[in-house]
Amino acid sequence: MSSHQLFIVDTCIDSTTAVTRAQEMYTAWVRQGIIEPIFTQEDLPGAYQPCFKVSEDCAWLHEIAYSQSVDDKGMWQKNQAVYGISINVMSHYWVEHNDVMFLKPIADQSCDDVRQHADGLFHNLEGGFYGCCPACDEFLDISDDERGEVFGEVIVEWFDKNTADLSCDLCGAISPLNEWHSDTFAVGCLAVTLQGVEVLDATDAQIEQLLHHLCLGDSGLAWVSCHG
Ligand SMILES: [Zn+2]
Repeated sequence: MSSHQLFIVDTCIDSTTAVTRAQEMYTAWVRQGIIEPIFTQEDLPGAYQPCFKVSEDCAWLHEIAYSQSVDDKGMWQKNQAVYGISINVMSHYWVEHNDVMFLKPIADQSCDDVRQHADGLFHNLEGGFYGCCPACDEFLDISDDERGEVFGEVIVEWFDKNTADLSCDLCGAISPLNEWHSDTFAVGCLAVTLQGVEVLDATDAQIEQLLHHLCLGDSGLAWVSCHG
């Protein structure tokens, strides 16, 4: 798996529970030494949004997230692949107070920093993105011009209500948008973003370990790779 960002999206959680869960995750990960307590000021490779720097001591994550390459002298070396973690919550952003970070609702005047994915939409930025119809399992290019207009209206509805339906061109079924997730697209009120991912070639057991450490459930999760 190669990407610049990997979104792990909880497509089922409601918006209120998402806030509580995110704050709990943050507190637990700081206590466990997985992440630094405040957003990093460093320019991390592959970081496209404000994020918590992954601790140098976080062995379990490094083990999953290291990539291997050959250096100038022909020696194998390991490269850290995940530099930062973001926790994205619908309609919320992180603010710092006394060296601790808290989630705040985005007020009507809207957040200055739009890079925090507070809109609950996660998709590949390069090469288009596809939704998978939950009824017929076929993939639809929802980023193309023809469908773009219809999809745009559905997305606006999702932003407003956290719920919306999308109909399938192929089988005619109408399904909730959050069930249309694929490896290039998902919507959800809570997501964990691994940033700077070059290679994530993990076994099922390691994925299970990752989810356990990230305190995410094992149903309704979408893994969305984002290039560019
Ligand atoms: Zn269908």
